[in-house]
Amino acid sequence: MFFDQFDVSPGSVGKLELKVGKMLTGAETKLTVHYIRGFKKGPFLGIQGCVHGDEAQPVRSFYSLLKSLNPEILSGTLAIVPVANPYAFSNFSRQSPDQHEQTNLWRAFPGNEGGTLTERYAFLLRSILIDNSDFFVECHSGGTSGRIQCRVDVDPDFTKQVGKKSRQMAYAFARGGARLVHGVPLSPSSAPGVSLKKGKPSISVEVGGSYLPESEENLYGDTIEKGFRNLLIYLRMISGKEKRNKILYFDKSKRVEVNPAHGGYLLSRKTQYSDLGKKVRKGELLGEMLDPHTLEIIEELRSPMEGTLFYSRCSGPVEIGNKGFAIASKIEIK
Ligand SMILES: [Zn+2]
Repeated sequence: MFFDQFDVSPGSVGKLELKVGKMLTGAETKLTVHYIRGFKKGPFLGIQGCVHGDEAQPVRSFYSLLKSLNPEILSGTLAIVPVANPYAFSNFSRQSPDQHEQTNLWRAFPGNEGGTLTERYAFLLRSILIDNSDFFVECHSGGTSGRIQCRVDVDPDFTKQVGKKSRQMAYAFARGGARLVHGVPLSPSSAPGVSLKKGKPSISVEVGGSYLPESEENLYGDTIEKGFRNLLIYLRMISGKEKRNKILYFDKSKRVEVNPAHGGYLLSRKTQYSDLGKKVRKGELLGEMLDPHTLEIIEELRSPMEGTLFYSRCSGPVEIGNKGFAIASKIEIK
């Protein structure tokens, strides 16, 4: 167990470096766990980011969140691994450059102690974060392919206590500012999927994008930090008044994607934080595909229905059928 292994006593703050092994470059690879254990008793909340190595938005929010907390004000333990897949992170990629097996850490859980590097990361993350946790959060954001996102995913197929608690976690996080909650099955080989199977309430946060202007970065960064703050209040890990404002819930059956039928350079009309969670009209132009060779507009991407835009894509190259925009058609207000 976490505490037995590392002797993290009540009132301690710090970081642990977990060595994984030596890589082909000759360098050691390791996972860094940041922790705060409050003087007062409370739950263990495990958090991991950058499971997909190109989704770095949460890193700056973890930095400001940890700076704002200390053992005097925290009940229980917060443990964060900001970069869950350093191998993919250094490659700015969703995939690790392993030569065999599962190279997407997102699907490599529960992991294997003696497996590939990706599987070893999964094993350590599961042992350190999930096995010790009472509650678990995985953070994603839009990657280098230019998508922007602002929602919380929760698995609707878990209906008993663990499902109910997970939904409450998702609502608490979303009330911090993300506002949208998407009911969508989480892969059983993902960290939240494994955590749910073990009976631990879990959510997947999808907030942010990559290499955005600072004004936009700050909006997503604040949304993540405020989401965690409201979640910590809900879990009674910090004191404060829990935000109870209205949020929007939709499930997988009530969404459509608008993806290009041709590869090209997307000229997007929906590139702002403020576009997410906003209404789009039926037939509204979301973007145009410019053929980068002939320099002609070859496709218009329009919303097939009236609904709420819940992810989008900034301008740039997009391959055939890759994800462009997504619209939720029926939304419940919670
Ligand atoms: Zn991701």
